Amino acid sequence: MFAKKAQAISPSPTLAIDAKAKQMKSEGIDIIGFGAGEPDFETPEHIKAAAIAAIEAGFTRYTPVAGMLDVRAAICEKLKRDNNLAYQETEIVVSNGAKHALTNAFAALLNPGDEVIIPAPFWVSYPEIVKLNDGVPVIVPTAAANDFKITVEDLQNAFTERTKVILLNSPNNPTGQIYTRQELQAIADFALQHNLYIVSDEIYEQLVYDQYQHVSIAALNPEIKARTIVVNGVSKTYAMTGWRIGFTASTAELAKIMSSVQSHTASNANSIAQKASIAALLGPQDCVVKMKAAFAKRRDYMVKKIATIDGLSCIEPKGAFYIFVDVSKLFGRKFNGQAINSSDDFASLLLEHAQVAVVPGTGFGAPDYIRLSYALALEQAKEGLERIEEFIGKLEN
Ligand code: PMP
Ligand code: GLU
Repeated sequence: MFAKKAQAISPSPTLAIDAKAKQMKSEGIDIIGFGAGEPDFETPEHIKAAAIAAIEAGFTRYTPVAGMLDVRAAICEKLKRDNNLAYQETEIVVSNGAKHALTNAFAALLNPGDEVIIPAPFWVSYPEIVKLNDGVPVIVPTAAANDFKITVEDLQNAFTERTKVILLNSPNNPTGQIYTRQELQAIADFALQHNLYIVSDEIYEQLVYDQYQHVSIAALNPEIKARTIVVNGVSKTYAMTGWRIGFTASTAELAKIMSSVQSHTASNANSIAQKASIAALLGPQDCVVKMKAAFAKRRDYMVKKIATIDGLSCIEPKGAFYIFVDVSKLFGRKFNGQAINSSDDFASLLLEHAQVAVVPGTGFGAPDYIRLSYALALEQAKEGLERIEEFIGKLEN
């Protein structure tokens, strides 16, 4: 009998769809992939150059577990510059991507049975990471009418004596919604009143559009900062998903615990990627501006087009690179006699018959929706939405 805990974990559906779309493409199938959870851009040249220089300079050995000092200093500088957060190097742990940083965070915070409030829709890995660390995910649905954001009333209803952590993700994957300073303030007050911790996943912080602004909950006041683990990384901002660099910012006490855990599970994050991350965080930021402008253009096109397609609707995303589309009006309709009763049915028929990959909302705790990533070329997005429109046009009532 293998480990019950590990066997209860489902594989990441976002990675699975992405792998399937990439495989179909490599087989020569003309597929449009809206599944990607990664920027389609190349890592900027100056970052690649820093990695090559790091190899040549011999940064090819173990580093301190929590990351090289200059890397942690660069992260502190970034947190100050972008988030108005003052951290010391001893409060930073560099890890193998933000996913690993989240794993460290929950390993450090949770005792068996501790409850973690996870607002739904949520990124697919949160409940699984909590379970792997013996916690209990408490999934709290949010209202589309409130832009899928959790309110203090929702928190009050979900709160029990076992509640330990509130997980926040703003800008949000999959909805693209962003919490305002006032909303975060209310959540922070609730957390402080009940001695809760916050894990704040801010991986999409640089990808915010129009007048919207990212605010880190930890920046609201020193009390909430002391109870927050900020999670971030270079994957999304700098098109560095494969480099695997994420980090946490927390109290030194929590950083020490996370570093001890990481010392036995992974040691340091890749030394070369660490050095490249300094170039990413402190180098020229115009690459970010350029990528963001391209994302914004695609978002604008897609949101407008979706509104014209029969049976589809969405709330305009304010950040990240996903559009969360309500497909429930299509439920009960049929394609070639096959009924569509869920977003899973819709996604699999779409992949098979229209060669378009989307991620069904089930894994995000929102089965009426599909997630479309706009990390693909505008031309591809246009073609993909036309295929979706054509496919829906063929559905029987
Ligand atoms: N958090 C969210 C919300 C994400 O979408 C992702 C995407 N993979 C991650 C964390 C993990 O990022 P990384 O690739 O740095 O592990
Ligand atoms: N976070 C991305 C996504 O949601 C990448 C895949 C993953 O890490 O799950 O698609």
